[in-house]
Amino acid sequence: SLQAGIVGLPNVGKSTLFNAVSINAKAQASNYRFCTIEPNVGLVDVPDERLSKLASLVNPNRTVPTQLEIVDIAGLVKGASKGEGLGNKFLGNIREVDAIIHVIRCFEDENVLREEGAINPVGDKEIIDTELQLKDLESVEKKMQRVEKMARVGSDAKAKAEYDILTRCKEHLEKGKSIFSLGLDKEEKNAVADLFLLTDKPVLYVANVDEGSMHTGNKYSEMLKNAVQSEGAEVIIMCNNIEAQIAEMESEEDRLMFMEEYKMTEPALNRLIRTAYALLNLDTYFTAGVQEVRAWTIHKGWKAPQAASVIHTDFEKGFIKAEVIAYEDFVKFGSEAACRDNGKLRIEGKEYIVKDGDIMHFRFNV
Ligand code: GDP
Repeated sequence: SLQAGIVGLPNVGKSTLFNAVSINAKAQASNYRFCTIEPNVGLVDVPDERLSKLASLVNPNRTVPTQLEIVDIAGLVKGASKGEGLGNKFLGNIREVDAIIHVIRCFEDENVLREEGAINPVGDKEIIDTELQLKDLESVEKKMQRVEKMARVGSDAKAKAEYDILTRCKEHLEKGKSIFSLGLDKEEKNAVADLFLLTDKPVLYVANVDEGSMHTGNKYSEMLKNAVQSEGAEVIIMCNNIEAQIAEMESEEDRLMFMEEYKMTEPALNRLIRTAYALLNLDTYFTAGVQEVRAWTIHKGWKAPQAASVIHTDFEKGFIKAEVIAYEDFVKFGSEAACRDNGKLRIEGKEYIVKDGDIMHFRFNV
């Protein structure tokens, strides 16, 4: 499944956040839905209002949300790109994730050790960015050396083009910028795909503020917001300590009371998971049977047979057709039968591009 990695300097609240995610997932869903794959890897449900709405209409035996894998990547410190700390191992972990959740300390607390001195959200962000950029620079330069020879021969147009792209990456990194913000197109991305660049991933910032600032933010989260504006990155303001406390509540009743006291309509975690999922730029379709109402993740632009393969590989091979209802229609008419009666159930073939929110029913040969 898709992975988001939590990174940040020591003592900014990463484990607190990871634990809250883990416990929360366990509490919200029945047991089988959460598993800790490794001590630092957990699977969480992605909250989706549409799924809840469909479930309330169909009333199935079970409701299955789509999931996101969360990895706690601790141990990133200044000098990691040079192998400081457990630098290389952790950078390796980052290579594998699809998106990054970067936790930044925006709370003051003299009881929580901070080696970097006064609270400095922008400085902290830059320390981590720099390590990742230095590592990418190393990868890019290595490849440039290989490609340069071929590009020099003169006749190798592909090598020349590749060399140009690598040069642009190098210059961008040297300016202290991440590859993601270079806006490479699909073809250009292919030229660097084999490098698995660390800075070519969407980033979501968590401004971990004191509990008094959780609705308003504070001067530190403001600094962070201003600094990332040019990247177009999102900042989520939350208090990880509060999230951990909510997650640890034994009963739903206590949880609701606690949240009411703090004027929260939902745990900030839900917002975090939804936003992280949205960053991945994926689509969701649903299946809605009496046994199970379920959300499935696909890439944008996938056609019906490929979308069906997410359920089972045989579904793609034996694909005949799909019955499709748009989400809005399903909600408006309330059931598959009512949609059929009102001409809102479409029959689509192999070339149909599945849309976000579609309710799909696949017909296939086995
Ligand atoms: P990590 O090293 O980034 O994983 O940091 P931890 O999650 O272990 O947190 C380090 C310390 O900061 C712990 O003592 C946490 O209780 C504390 N901490 C985490 N989040 C907050 C917060 O929102 N406010 C305050 N005051 N302390 C926090």
